[in-house]
Amino acid sequence: MDPIVTRFPPSPTGYLHVGGARTALFNWLYARHTGGRFVLRLEDTDVQRSTQASVAAIFDALAWLGIDWDEGPYYQTQRLDVYRSHIQKLLDSDCAYYCTCSPEDIEAMRKAATARGDKPRYDGRCRDKQRPFSDDAVVRFKAPRTGTTVIEDVVKGPIVFQNDELDDFIICRSDGMPMYNLAVVVDDVTMGINTVIRGDDHVNNTPKQILLYKALGAPLPVFAHVPMVLGSDRARLSKRHGAMSVTEYREMGYLPDAVLNYLVRLGWSHGDQEFFTREELIAKFSLEHIGKSAGVFDPNKLQALNADHIQAAAPETLTDHLLPFLAARGVTAPDSAYLRAVIETLQTRSKTLVEMADGALFYFQEKVAYEEKAAQKFLKPAILEPLRLLIAQLDAQAVFTDASIESAFVQTMETAGLKLGKIAQPVRVALTGKTVSPGIFEIIKVLGKAQTLSRLEQAASFISGRSD
Ligand code: GLU
Repeated sequence: MDPIVTRFPPSPTGYLHVGGARTALFNWLYARHTGGRFVLRLEDTDVQRSTQASVAAIFDALAWLGIDWDEGPYYQTQRLDVYRSHIQKLLDSDCAYYCTCSPEDIEAMRKAATARGDKPRYDGRCRDKQRPFSDDAVVRFKAPRTGTTVIEDVVKGPIVFQNDELDDFIICRSDGMPMYNLAVVVDDVTMGINTVIRGDDHVNNTPKQILLYKALGAPLPVFAHVPMVLGSDRARLSKRHGAMSVTEYREMGYLPDAVLNYLVRLGWSHGDQEFFTREELIAKFSLEHIGKSAGVFDPNKLQALNADHIQAAAPETLTDHLLPFLAARGVTAPDSAYLRAVIETLQTRSKTLVEMADGALFYFQEKVAYEEKAAQKFLKPAILEPLRLLIAQLDAQAVFTDASIESAFVQTMETAGLKLGKIAQPVRVALTGKTVSPGIFEIIKVLGKAQTLSRLEQAASFISGRSD
């Protein structure tokens, strides 16, 4: 069998939104799963709305998601000659013709059809006139007027269109620019695309495209039209349902693997498994299990999945993702072994990298900044003596291990006659400035002896200062 060749052809008129990213992902996964090829193509013939900034934003989002391509990027505006030669081929084979009807003629046809209760469409008046090329002529496709055109869709099953519902659609504008349906088909044919996975908003274009394939004598690709992504109110997904741009999720502290996992699950399933690594997705992705009903985008589910991915990730893979968030908080170039240890204490308690960076800050502060209420409640004179005892006990430990830290606490509790509950919270505030943090033994191990003692001393002076 020929290798599978898929493509992602975004129109660079804005950022990469979650629906587009899901389409890219399905095509990429299918190519990777089958050992095929994945082609990137920028459909930039709408020169008014296409921008270089959008192209850059799409590249950036794909790179962040880890979607790589084997061919391209192609730009449609650089392929006008290819479209022209195919349009000429269609003209030569009598599958297309020049039409010189004016906008007023078309408008009059539209009105007349509507008055008759018909669908507005071109009535074919130039169809058999053999009009020559002229500056104001468009090229129309000579669509069949009888019979049916069928999409054998692998997701939706066969979809039948009556050919008399179609009109002689324009394939080339009078300024020489190809229309979308023509350019897509010529590209897909010449790039050897044999599998087209895209949103089902393109179903209505597909019969026209199938007719073009046939007129060009090209084999049809496999079509897989994926239901649109919906918001929680079942309306088509839009900004009011949450962040739409993929890279906004990067800024919000999401891992690309979590976004990837979530987007794939929005339209594809493998039993009831929710969590997938990238490798598992590549191994398991198939067209057969693309869902027939629309996926509903749920930001809470995405966040829960992000938490799962943060928890499951190897700390060193989180480092690179976390560094920009730390830098934004003034922590630059942290020691990598230290950072790794810090991350390990936060993985089970961070839903996003923003939370993780916020939670990590205290580890990097030379002087602990106490939350006012926490200091008031827990750094009180009564705890000064136990704190001093703990300092002495910890200082006496040659190395900090789970056992030596615990033993220092046990000794302190015995001597002071206090339960751990009475000591733990003041120590937590002394070490972190806050009342919520990872476990204090974990923190002490990460901070190490010198930092721990210095923080406990700082708390002791703080209390003495207050009680003086
Ligand atoms: N450029 C089209 C779009 O962004 C995609 C066309 C296609 O997948 O055939 O919707």
